Amino acid sequence: MKPLGPIPAGFETIDGELAIGGMTASALVEQAGRTPLFVYSRAHLDRRMAELRAAVPTRIGINYAIKANSFAGVLQHMAALVDGFDIASGGELAMAQAAGLDPARISFAGPGKRDSELESAIAAGVTLNCESDGEVDRALAIGARQGIAPHIALRVNPSFELRGSGMKMGGGAKPFGIDEELVPAIARKAILAGAEWRGLHIFTGSQALSAEAIIETQGNVLDLASRLADEIGAPLPKLNMGGGFGIPYFHGDEPLDIVAIGAALGERLASLPEILIDTELCIELGRYLVGEAGVYLTRIVDRKVSHGTTFLVTDGGLHHQLAASGNFGTVVRRNYPVAIASHFDAAAEEEVYVVGCLCTPLDRLADGAMLPRADVGDLVAVFCAGAYGASASPSAFLGQGPAAEVLV
Ligand SMILES: *Cc1c(COP(=O)(O)O)cnc(C)c1O
Repeated sequence: MKPLGPIPAGFETIDGELAIGGMTASALVEQAGRTPLFVYSRAHLDRRMAELRAAVPTRIGINYAIKANSFAGVLQHMAALVDGFDIASGGELAMAQAAGLDPARISFAGPGKRDSELESAIAAGVTLNCESDGEVDRALAIGARQGIAPHIALRVNPSFELRGSGMKMGGGAKPFGIDEELVPAIARKAILAGAEWRGLHIFTGSQALSAEAIIETQGNVLDLASRLADEIGAPLPKLNMGGGFGIPYFHGDEPLDIVAIGAALGERLASLPEILIDTELCIELGRYLVGEAGVYLTRIVDRKVSHGTTFLVTDGGLHHQLAASGNFGTVVRRNYPVAIASHFDAAAEEEVYVVGCLCTPLDRLADGAMLPRADVGDLVAVFCAGAYGASASPSAFLGQGPAAEVLV
């Protein structure tokens, strides 16, 4: 038997079934007309943002990294809750604009921005978090052609990283950002060339559950930013301090202590160096804001026993749930929180393997899980499906196509 991850708080049972936003899983599926179905909860999104706002000093803006979940309904809902969107492609720029977000509140990171992407971002007045000297030059040249001063910030590749981070994106040789020692000269060049100087972006990692590690990293980020601003010789209009706030996916994971993080930030803000006094500060979060608000519902199409092992075969799988299947940056596969949505309050009574419908042994949703008895037609719920589910899974694989999505 293998343990399941912790089911996030805030889900209820109605008539024995999992309910989200006051509707049962079966009613949600009936309304959507098909499975698999991603359901995103407005109440969860609102609650998460309210808790975060209460914990973090008001001076710290909260940006949403939309790659975690770019479903149009979610973007529109988040646009009203957060201070800005972080995007990483021209496609995401179009999505952010369609959600009605003021381009002045959008910043664009990501290595390998094409000229056409830089053109539309500069024309819209979006801040570019430039990832290299060459990209700065291209942005300046495009701005000159368009007769628009590009809004330029530099993404720094810091010499430190976020300890315990699920995905490391800083420290050592990286395709992301500009090595910290090269930043001052490139910033001065951009400012001299007439760019609208927007400051620095320092992202150090993802999916950290240790408040201590995040506090340490935020301290390092503020130290580095003030040192670089001194060397540049100009204050930073804005500093994007990165994020990395994780959510519990697996058995034994503990939720992040955001109150401790907020308190430590408050102390740091009270003694900021002079050069950062007027700097607009923000953090950028993806999964922390949306991950626990999403549930993936998939229907059992077959129940079979092979050599004594029971398999529940569903109509979903890794083509929508790459991370839950254990194939998105994990070394050892562990179970996400998974439940039988149709019998949400029933006691666990059998050990089963929940698999997807793809013809590959990689397509696993729960291994050796103790669950209530479930049969063909019942619905399975995979929790923590609000981030990097639909937006990060290969839905074209085996001709399956995307899942339905709904915000309730
Ligand atoms: C992916 C990414 C994020 C969001 O990461 P989460 O783990 O979802 O919070 C934020 N900023 C940058 C630069 C990223 O690449």
